[in-house]
Amino acid sequence: MRFDTRCVRAAIEPDPVTGAIVPPIYQSATFVLPEVGRDLGFDYTRSSNPTRQVLEEQMAAIEGVKYGTAFASGMSAVDAVTRIFKAGDHIVSSDDVYGGVSRLFNKILTNFGLEFTYVDTSDPANVESAIRPATKMVWVETPTNPLLKVTDIEAVGRIAHEHGLLFGVDSTFATPYHLRPAAYGADIVMHSTTKYLSGHNLIIGGILLTDRADLDEKLKYVQKSVGAVPSPFDCWLIMEGLKTLSLRMARHTDNARRVASYLESHPNVARVIFPGLESHPMHQVAARQMENGFSGMISFELEGGSAAGIQLMNSVKLCALAESLGAVETMITHPASMTHAEVPEDERRARGLGDGLVRLSVGIEDAEDILEDLEQALARAQ
Ligand SMILES: *Cc1c(COP(=O)(O)O)cnc(C)c1O
Repeated sequence: MRFDTRCVRAAIEPDPVTGAIVPPIYQSATFVLPEVGRDLGFDYTRSSNPTRQVLEEQMAAIEGVKYGTAFASGMSAVDAVTRIFKAGDHIVSSDDVYGGVSRLFNKILTNFGLEFTYVDTSDPANVESAIRPATKMVWVETPTNPLLKVTDIEAVGRIAHEHGLLFGVDSTFATPYHLRPAAYGADIVMHSTTKYLSGHNLIIGGILLTDRADLDEKLKYVQKSVGAVPSPFDCWLIMEGLKTLSLRMARHTDNARRVASYLESHPNVARVIFPGLESHPMHQVAARQMENGFSGMISFELEGGSAAGIQLMNSVKLCALAESLGAVETMITHPASMTHAEVPEDERRARGLGDGLVRLSVGIEDAEDILEDLEQALARAQ
């Protein structure tokens, strides 16, 4: 099956009892055994659940790998990866990672003896020089949040594997519609299913995908031991969202391209960051490794700096001032006070994450309506 067909059909069979075309929601904590020592494939929903299993298989097929392991949030998926390591192990990570990921790494996992080094992975040489004898994994986010830095994952994957390290990629912003990191050597692909994959601002969820049976076994063991599992209903909602992934992403990226070029030509806008623009420093790499466009995320800064950015975000009407991204509604975010408020100010500045930075998750509304809303808000934000 080709990609669009896999989104709609992979792993989804009519219910053998009723013929229902949509898999049922098996909202059940436990499963009755026909006799001692024998089950019908399921025993307890923390370990496995028929609805979750459909989602895991569907998502693995969409990502082009064999195995999927679903979690109750993107954060618990990232956390599960780190639980295959032990105290003293070291991880090299992209510096501009999602705010919650750097909080988990720095504020929680360092208490358990894991060590982290952050580098700008858009230059693979930085990864090579950060590797130590205790290094066990390279963790890359591409494009990053919110600066949309792009990493050449084939190059970084080669370095990781030359050193015998695991290579994990947080591919939440790209989705498998634009990028399938396993094809470039990623051992583990992670998504927050909260975002584009479910796509409708309905659930919080995460998933890990791998082609390696040994890793799948470890991750499933963490899943059932720690128990950060999604509810069957949430799995079902993600499954339904995935069926329209291609259609939605095509519109997200089309709209984002239009909004990015509009912003780039606007006199009040100082800087636009979108991997699809020629002006993006890693545009060539993005164009090479991403397909069908560049997803729907844009960051920009206004000429009037912080005050103008805040005025703009307070003036939008159609764009929703909200944390999160990757849903059908256009959402606008102020990273400095919202998603990245916990990153210390000097570190934010060092990363190029100014107080005037605006992040836009371009939705699937009519692009004209999004542009009109930005036009009126930009006029007020002089
Ligand atoms: C949202 C997000 C996460 C965390 O996922 P949750 O579902 O919010 O727990 C991790 N990485 C990226 C890139 C994200 O956008």
